[in-house]
Amino acid sequence: MTQVSNLGYPRLGENREWKKAIEAYWAGNQTQEQLEENLRELRLDALKKQAEAGIDLIPVGDFSFYDHILDLSYQFNIIPDRFANQESSLDLYYAIARGNKENVASSMKKWFNTNYHYIVPEWSSRTKPRLTNTRLLDLYKEAREQVGDKAKPVITGPITYVALSSGVDDFTVAVKKLLPLYKEVFTQLVDAGATYIQVDEPIFVTDEGEELVEAAKCVYAYFAKEVPQAKLVFQTYFEALVKADQLSDLPVAAFGLDLVHGREENLDAINKGYFEGKEVFAGVVNGRNIWAVDLKASADILQAIEGKVAKLVVQPSSSLLHVPVTTKNETELEPVLKNGLAFADEKLVELRLLADRLDGKESEGFAKHVADFDALQAADFRHVQLEDISSVKTERAPFADRQKIQAAKLNLPILPTTTIGSFPQSPEIRRTRLAWKRGDISDQDYKDFINQEIARWIKIQEDLDLDVLVHGEFERVDMVEFFGQKLAGFTTTKLGWVQSYGSRAVKPPIIYGDVKHIQPLTVEETVYAQSLTDRPVKGMLTGPITITNWSFERDDISRADLFNQIALAIKDEIALLEEAGIAIIQVDEAALREGLPLRKAKQKAYLDDAVASFRIATSSVEDDTQIHTHMCYSKFDEIIDSIRALDADVISIETSRSHGDIIESFETAVYPLGIGLGVYDIHSPRVPSQDEVVANIKRPLQRLSKEQFWVNPDCGLKTRREPETIAALEILVASTKEVRQQLKNR
Ligand code: GLN
Ligand code: ZN
Repeated sequence: MTQVSNLGYPRLGENREWKKAIEAYWAGNQTQEQLEENLRELRLDALKKQAEAGIDLIPVGDFSFYDHILDLSYQFNIIPDRFANQESSLDLYYAIARGNKENVASSMKKWFNTNYHYIVPEWSSRTKPRLTNTRLLDLYKEAREQVGDKAKPVITGPITYVALSSGVDDFTVAVKKLLPLYKEVFTQLVDAGATYIQVDEPIFVTDEGEELVEAAKCVYAYFAKEVPQAKLVFQTYFEALVKADQLSDLPVAAFGLDLVHGREENLDAINKGYFEGKEVFAGVVNGRNIWAVDLKASADILQAIEGKVAKLVVQPSSSLLHVPVTTKNETELEPVLKNGLAFADEKLVELRLLADRLDGKESEGFAKHVADFDALQAADFRHVQLEDISSVKTERAPFADRQKIQAAKLNLPILPTTTIGSFPQSPEIRRTRLAWKRGDISDQDYKDFINQEIARWIKIQEDLDLDVLVHGEFERVDMVEFFGQKLAGFTTTKLGWVQSYGSRAVKPPIIYGDVKHIQPLTVEETVYAQSLTDRPVKGMLTGPITITNWSFERDDISRADLFNQIALAIKDEIALLEEAGIAIIQVDEAALREGLPLRKAKQKAYLDDAVASFRIATSSVEDDTQIHTHMCYSKFDEIIDSIRALDADVISIETSRSHGDIIESFETAVYPLGIGLGVYDIHSPRVPSQDEVVANIKRPLQRLSKEQFWVNPDCGLKTRREPETIAALEILVASTKEVRQQLKNR
């Protein structure tokens, strides 16, 4: 019988119960015991569901109270020095993730090319790895009681863990320090009855992984010798395994391969016979998109490789952490669309159908699934119509000329202050929106309420003495979903939530057909805000790359075509804003970096497409219209040329949480355009001190000119609360004035 495995299941719960429980604990409305009980229930529910769906190897340890990498750091005692003398507790765990009054949080980074963020492990010369708890063992024992032998522990492997760490002096030394800890964990698990243990080593799909082959040989030889009873699955995802000719020799029981995102390359390696004598866990169902799988094509792939490996196990391409729980509540979608979708639970069904097919079992489920899949492909809305873009402007006047014209028009002080767009979405806003969605209040009442908030915040911003104001994005739950609701070609789900970082979840819209601008998206709110003030109000749009990267995109058209379709829609909206007298328009590309392919060889094409589409969206404006863009933190050095090529008049960038790394790439690359390097971290409720902010303004001014520098927080403020937001912005403005004064006196 062909076995089915799963790599990870969504943590959030069908109704985001996970998020609600954790936030209730943070707010002091739930005790630790209640939180633990709530999360235990969710965890056990997920196990049960997977067992019922016929999954033979059910992941254990993928569940977390925040993030799986933080879990490992905590278990290994790899906690930042500034937290080191604090007593071990759940609050310490959360403090590392979110910061507290005394200390800043650890950095977070994108988990490979996904929109999930992990907490970066921080090492120093004082780090002394040791096991502080028996987390995975406890979870495994708990799972065994529920699903018996089907429980399969999951842990991130040592090489990936260290590769994702910061502050590591000597890679090999750090890995060596961890090996006895892994050995102990594996031994405990094996003693408790575990057979397969999934060891996630996704670093081995990246260019960096190519350099780590020797390290892998040492590490996995050590495990084979020290814990021979453990059947390790060397699990990779998001791309093909690098150096398969060498890595396939590792002394592990099985390899988990992504046959969706790394299909050609991985199949090629299998066909060359590299995995003869090894078990292969074949990831044929896309763990990152929401379309139903092509069962027949996938079954063909599986059949073709079955004879070339010692044993074939069917699984998703990656953890299902990246998709929502179930389509069953999406009752408002057109049936042909709904039946063509597969979230986590539906993917479990697909996996079982595939395994049964391999075993020669004909099931009704299979035929029905194929019919649904075919119906979607045949639907009218799947027919692609591309517009001609050859006559669209993609080149603006030289920056120096624009800069002069814009300066004359806007008349801003040096070091202009602004924010990234959103202001706190208070409980009142959320309540009112809910009431409106339920039909309890009228459209007009809701609109009036939003306008009131806009007016209140225009006043607050004027009182704070900010230079460039924003309307606050109160009408948006999410910077992508909002556009999805108004553009043709998109649909939104009711409960299609996916974890982004910590308790924060996003609900990506689904792009299912041709994208078109069919109505104004943001004009009303922006123009209303501008009518209340003499200071410029910045229009706020999301760019084509970010809309694509943060949507579930259709898989039947090229990414470049999709970028361009969305770019044309954004261009139409920019024209409307410009016509209505808005002088500054920000086009957020928060997700540009995260969509970067993992392999160098594929990056240039992506970046070129991305830049081209951004320019399609933004180049048709007048010279005196100032285009801003905003990007969230990440490593920028390798894409700085493309960022330059966007030719935005001003870019604002997250920086605080990377503790300076990013600033360097902008400082040293002599970035010539307007730039705002975030001067405080908005991901933490902590209000910065004036000294800190002054230092954050002055440091980059050693390299960047005062004519090009902008002062802003490092991201949108919607997740913050009002008092801390105002307090932090007061500091931001006061700090700017202090630096302006110093510059004047020089
Ligand atoms: N304009 C958006 C906001 O302020 C940008 C958010 C983001 O970069 N993620 O919320
Ligand atoms: Zn941001």
